[in-house]
Amino acid sequence: MNKKTIESVDVKDQRVLMRADFNVPLDDNLAITDDRRIQSALPTIRKILEGGGKLILMSHLGRPKGKPEDKYSLVPVAKRLGELLEQNVPLASDCVGDVAGALSEGVKSGECLLLQNLRFHAAETIKDKEAKQDAEKRAIKDEFACSLADMADIYVNDAFGTCHRDNASMFTVPQMMKGKPRVIGYLVKKELEFLGSALTDPGRPFVAVLGGAKVSDKIGVIDALLPKCDRVLIGGAMMYTFFAAQGIKTGKSLVEPNFVDEAKRLMEVGGEKLLLPSDSAVAAKIAAEAETQTVEGSVPEDMMGLDIGPASIGAFSDVIKNAKTIIWNGPMGVFETPPFDRGTMAIAQAMANATANGATTIIGGGDSAAAIDQAGLSDRMTHISTGGGASLEYLEGKPFVALEVIDDA
Ligand code: AMP
Repeated sequence: MNKKTIESVDVKDQRVLMRADFNVPLDDNLAITDDRRIQSALPTIRKILEGGGKLILMSHLGRPKGKPEDKYSLVPVAKRLGELLEQNVPLASDCVGDVAGALSEGVKSGECLLLQNLRFHAAETIKDKEAKQDAEKRAIKDEFACSLADMADIYVNDAFGTCHRDNASMFTVPQMMKGKPRVIGYLVKKELEFLGSALTDPGRPFVAVLGGAKVSDKIGVIDALLPKCDRVLIGGAMMYTFFAAQGIKTGKSLVEPNFVDEAKRLMEVGGEKLLLPSDSAVAAKIAAEAETQTVEGSVPEDMMGLDIGPASIGAFSDVIKNAKTIIWNGPMGVFETPPFDRGTMAIAQAMANATANGATTIIGGGDSAAAIDQAGLSDRMTHISTGGGASLEYLEGKPFVALEVIDDA
């Protein structure tokens, strides 16, 4: 994807509206538990500030229902960003309206303003398909986007984690800023380069490791990766839908009965490329103190399969060891509850070893990124994506309309 980047514009004394993805996890006291998404936006932010731009930042946080909610306020983000930049980051109490308008007018060159959570307005998340069918929704979305677009001379998209959405700030705002520079930031550029080159020119063997709860979420990506990869390894709860497809008993494991036929089809398409676990760690309940056992094949009737077993860990690690490119999305088991984290931690270690041996290792964000963090191996991967959903859709080959409206290089 050949898009104009922040490198190509002179931001001096220009009002720059930058969409970031500051959707960071918060604990019960509203303290940020992982600031990676803020850190990842810093190179673009610094470039704009050091270039003398007047920076207006916008983002969403969480899933508020179209109105203000304290727990989704960007106050903690403004504070953390201020600490990282070592400069004051004022927060406008709303992202549009008189207050936001006045504050955005007052931003001086080399300074920045953060707008309050975009999703405090229902207009932000109106899908374009809905807006096309409903004139009132179209008007609401456009009016909201217009208020944001009017604030600036330059539009920057550095919100990779939201690039798969056609939210007003991602899609309608740049549409409305046609004729003004519309560029991507360094984070989006880096994410597209890593994911893109893995898909188009991977070092081989090229291996995908896919896990997580539901096979229904991953069918698209399995279909897209099977022709491109040399091996596709399947773990997580979704392995049990594949077990069911082979007539292997799954006990009380999480199975999606409506997707057993799809699993059968994927096994036929994948043939030898598709590697399923041979054994599982099983227990009667998901609890740290639960008694666990390893079983080969069938899961006993009163048990749940909660992790891949030791033989599968060995087989998967061998494949990873010999790979030159590895993409991982989705944990191998219930990694949040030890001992069901063993499979996921072992795969994280195998990935780290592969990186050390010269392989390119890419983590597709979300839970896999959290697991790598839990393993203390984050700095031993080639690239950890900031967008779980976005990287998955990118790997599936779905077009990102939010990037289509960015100027071509
Ligand atoms: P996803 O969002 O689809 O990537 O799924 C991540 C979730 O899948 C995590 O919360 C894991 O605890 C869960 N998970 C992984 N393996 C299993 C399993 N065998 N049984 C139940 N949940 C699982």
